[in-house]
Amino acid sequence: MKYNPYSISKMGTFKTCPKMFKLKYIEKVRIDGEPQLALYRGSYAHEILENNFDYGIPVQLNHVFTQEEADKVKVMVQDFRNTDLGKRIERLINHPDSVLEEDFAFDKNLNLVPFKSPRGWMRGSADLYNVRASEPLLVDYKTGQDKSETEGFGYEQGMVYAVYMFIKYPEIQSIKAVFVFIEHGTKREIYFYRSEFVSYIRYIFNNTKKIENSKHFNENVSALCPFCDYDGTEHCTSFMENEMKTEEAMSTKISLDF
Ligand code: SF4
Repeated sequence: MKYNPYSISKMGTFKTCPKMFKLKYIEKVRIDGEPQLALYRGSYAHEILENNFDYGIPVQLNHVFTQEEADKVKVMVQDFRNTDLGKRIERLINHPDSVLEEDFAFDKNLNLVPFKSPRGWMRGSADLYNVRASEPLLVDYKTGQDKSETEGFGYEQGMVYAVYMFIKYPEIQSIKAVFVFIEHGTKREIYFYRSEFVSYIRYIFNNTKKIENSKHFNENVSALCPFCDYDGTEHCTSFMENEMKTEEAMSTKISLDF
């Protein structure tokens, strides 16, 4: 458990680029970049929903997340509330058996531990769930792109949630993870079953093992580099180098063509 606690985003970082994982979670290199608007939009939308569509909750503004941007988020959530899906979510939020916004963590022996416990192996935050509903379900809000039709989307995240729910509620045999795309009024549903519990654990374990066994944390230059904090910094210049190589190759080709 060299790099625990793990989370979906931490495991996702390794998949995107092992070098980024190393810089972010092992060397803990912080880059003071421009705050990202998408992150502010997402967290404000979450806060409104967590507070049962309270549009009056205080918001911290800055030069990126301005009042105008905050107002756009309010309109987006309001529009969502008016959809059939939004109405169902509102009913669920108000259901007495629903649990809103819960941080969780479990250790390698599959015991629940406090969120910040050093014994935590996996941790996460559940936006909304209800295990007393006719079918137990867990909701995760998403802002940004609509990935409701994207193949494989949500499976890993849902699996971690499902493991948590199966540990916490021994009586439930299945759970439906519902990923709700607020801006688009769409959803993706994935069912998880207690009978598959061991395979979920194995999957998560294999992913963390792969990270722990990694020796070189190689760069993975991809189309995502421009969105990486380390792109073009002294910590990782591979994207720039790659561009230079492409430019060099092109100029060689041009000179040869002449
Ligand atoms: S810039 Fe690209 S290669 Fe470098 S750390 Fe970031 S994602 Fe990885």
